[in-house]
Amino acid sequence: MIHANNRYDAIVIGGGPSGSATATILARRGYRVAIFERDHFPRFHVGESLIPFCYPVLEKIGMLPKMQASHFTKKYGVQFINEQGKLSEPFRFSQYDPHERSQTWQVLRSEFDKMMIDNARENGVEVYEGTRVLDCLQDGDRIVGVKAKLEGSDEACDYHAQVVIDASGQSSMLIDRFELRQWDTEYGLTGRELIESLDSTRVEPS
Ligand SMILES: Cc1cc2nc3c(=O)[nH]c(=O)nc-3n(C[C@H](O)[C@H](O)[C@H](O)COP(=O)(O)OP(=O)(O)OC[C@H]3O[C@@H](n4cnc5c(N)ncnc54)[C@H](O)[C@@H]3O)c2cc1C
Repeated sequence: MIHANNRYDAIVIGGGPSGSATATILARRGYRVAIFERDHFPRFHVGESLIPFCYPVLEKIGMLPKMQASHFTKKYGVQFINEQGKLSEPFRFSQYDPHERSQTWQVLRSEFDKMMIDNARENGVEVYEGTRVLDCLQDGDRIVGVKAKLEGSDEACDYHAQVVIDASGQSSMLIDRFELRQWDTEYGLTGRELIESLDSTRVEPS
C-alpha cells in the first residue's frame, strides 16, 4: 500500500544498483524516499563483474558486511584474453592500490540486486516492486513527481516529490522523455550501430 499522501522528498525510478544505492544514501540522511521498480526481484540482469571502486559505495550504504558474508566469488584482479587466445599480464588490484578495497566480487546480479533493494528497505526506503513509472509530473520547467501504475491496478496515480531521480538503466526514461541523449562524438556509434558493425565483420567458423 502506497502511503496515503503520496508525497516524498525523493522518488527514484528503478531499483537496480544505482537506484537502490542512491535511495539508501538519501534515506540514511533522513529523507522520505520511494523506489518505483517495474519488475519483481530477484530478476535476471547482466553486469556481474564488480570493480574495486564499488567499495566506498558499498561501505556507505551498509552493504559491506553482507558482501563479506556472501558466497560471491572474491576477485583480486583482472586478466584479458585477445582474439588469438593470448593472455595479458594480470592486473592485480592490490599492486595498484593496496587496501582492503583491492578485493571485490563477481556477483550473480539477480541475488546482488535483491540484496541491494532489500538493504534499501532496511534503511527506510519505501520500495514498490511491480510498479511502472509511466511519465513524470511537471510544474512549468520543474519535475515535481511521477505518474506510476501498480501491477494489477487499473489506473495510474500521481506521486509527488521534491526530487525525481532517473535510475531506470538502459530504459533511460527521462533522457528519452526530454531528448537529452548525447551521442559519443569520438566513436560516433550508438551501441546498436556498434553491434551491427561487429556483426557485419564477423568471421563465421569454417
Ligand atoms: C552485456 C553487458 C555486460 C555488462 N557487464 C558488466 C560488468 O561485468 N560489470 C559491471 O559493473 N557492469 C556491467 N554492465 C553494465 C551494468 O549492467 C549496468 O551498468 C548496471 O546494470 C547499471 O545499473 P543501474 O542500476 O543503473 O540500472 P539497471 O540495473 O538496469 O536497473 C534499472 C532498473 O530500472 C527499472 N526500470 C526501468 N524503467 C522503469 C520504469 N519506467 N518504471 C519502473 N522501473 C523501471 C528496471 O526494471 C531495472 O530494474 C554490463 C552491461 C551489459 C549490457
